[in-house]
Amino acid sequence: MGALSGVRTAVKIVNPATEDVIAEVEMADAAEVDRAVERARRAFPAWRAVAPGDRARLLRRFAALVEDHAEELARLEIANAGHTVGNARWEAGNVRDVLNYYAGAPERDHGKQIPVAGGIDVTFSEPLGVVGIIVPWNFPMVIMTWGVAPALAAGNTVIVKPAEWTPLTALRLAELALEAGIPEGVLQVVPGEGEVAGARLVEHPDVRKIVFTGSTEVGKLIGAKAAEQVKRVTLELGGKSANIVFADSDLARAAESAPMAVFDNSGQDCCARSRILVERSVYDDFLLRLAEAVREVTVGDPNDPASQMGPLISAEHRERVASYVGDLEPYVTGSCPAGAGYWFPPTVLAGSSSDSFRRAFTEEIFGPVVAVVPFDDEADAVRIANDTLYGLSGSIWTRDVGRALRVARAVEAGNLSVNSHSSVRYWTPFGGFKQSGLGRELGPDALAAFTETKNVFISTE
Ligand code: NAD
Repeated sequence: MGALSGVRTAVKIVNPATEDVIAEVEMADAAEVDRAVERARRAFPAWRAVAPGDRARLLRRFAALVEDHAEELARLEIANAGHTVGNARWEAGNVRDVLNYYAGAPERDHGKQIPVAGGIDVTFSEPLGVVGIIVPWNFPMVIMTWGVAPALAAGNTVIVKPAEWTPLTALRLAELALEAGIPEGVLQVVPGEGEVAGARLVEHPDVRKIVFTGSTEVGKLIGAKAAEQVKRVTLELGGKSANIVFADSDLARAAESAPMAVFDNSGQDCCARSRILVERSVYDDFLLRLAEAVREVTVGDPNDPASQMGPLISAEHRERVASYVGDLEPYVTGSCPAGAGYWFPPTVLAGSSSDSFRRAFTEEIFGPVVAVVPFDDEADAVRIANDTLYGLSGSIWTRDVGRALRVARAVEAGNLSVNSHSSVRYWTPFGGFKQSGLGRELGPDALAAFTETKNVFISTE
């Protein structure tokens, strides 16, 4: 799979639920990245010149092929990333929907006509050129497509660098794009190591923009490197989101829904509500209800439709997640399979003043571990929610509409939901405050992140 010329090393791709090797993928070196950039650069003039209606049709055809191959793509993601079958099917559907949504964009990518004296003034949305998209392993095909679809719709050519552990759906999507008639060189997937292939994309002068989704640590490095060339960046980084439960909320619903708001995708979700803040008067009651709900979470074979949670991505990652629990005594621990696979049980840590708890409460664990603390009043809840470097998402549970709005406005995060843990919708904007990121993806304005505004004045004199 993914045979590329001039490659140096191959990586074994492992099924995290079984530890079986399911593929070997060659990793591109910097020279291979340079060749991909050259192909993308050469493909750009013809792609930007494709009439908007034709570009739209090609993207729709790509979406239709994704629909035809949805089960195959879902099975690849299950095998490669350990996603549950329910999630993986949703993800294949999301790829189709995102492509269809931005297939409606080329004909609408219009500028403005601005009144001026002595002529007319118009603006154009110009594509940037070659765009590099660097993808993490937690939602491989979905996160890739959030960048690819608007970038292609705007007339850019794209190079995707998937995460080392999860390149399989990206490689398959590139094949489907070609089959849909999207010309050679317009969408390329280059598997490779972050420090080699990813770094080369960032430093290559012909790559005009980097969309990076991953850790805040690497995002900062990429932002600094890109700044040397004033290269455009969109950064989607880490999170430590708060789920705030007020005493006047529907406590049963808040407690029942809290586990999957953090344990979905085994907690490997940048939007995971991994801090639960509960008003002190209902704290004990909430914990009892939460414990009951956590014991009911089904962890097991991702291919089984009854499974709500699969394994972690790797042994190395499991070790990292486990280090956050360490010698802390969990309030409740759910169950998970023993034997092969990188399993970790849903784990609830409840308020304590120890340094270990503090670390679990503040750092992004990216696993099925949630930390719960009490708060005194609305101001205290907002203070604790904002006491973090991150600002990606969060939930607010209350029956008081005024309070819901006040708290939603006060929490420094890009994506909030009231009385729900709504997941990301492709037609609404998504992104982070503070160190959770820079820029927004999805929604009606995503093309602005892949275009430059050009202003042209034409004299009538
Ligand atoms: P990571 O930062 O280790 O890697 C992400 C990608 O960057 C991979 O493709 C990797 O190969 C590449 N990379 C690593 N070093 C690089 C370098 N020096 N130059 C260029 N590329 C490099 O992140 P991860 O462990 O794969 O993903 C988990 C992180 O992603 C979590 O922090 C999570 O919160 C975040 N995330 C954020 C969002 C969001 O939308 N905000 C979505 C999903 C994941």
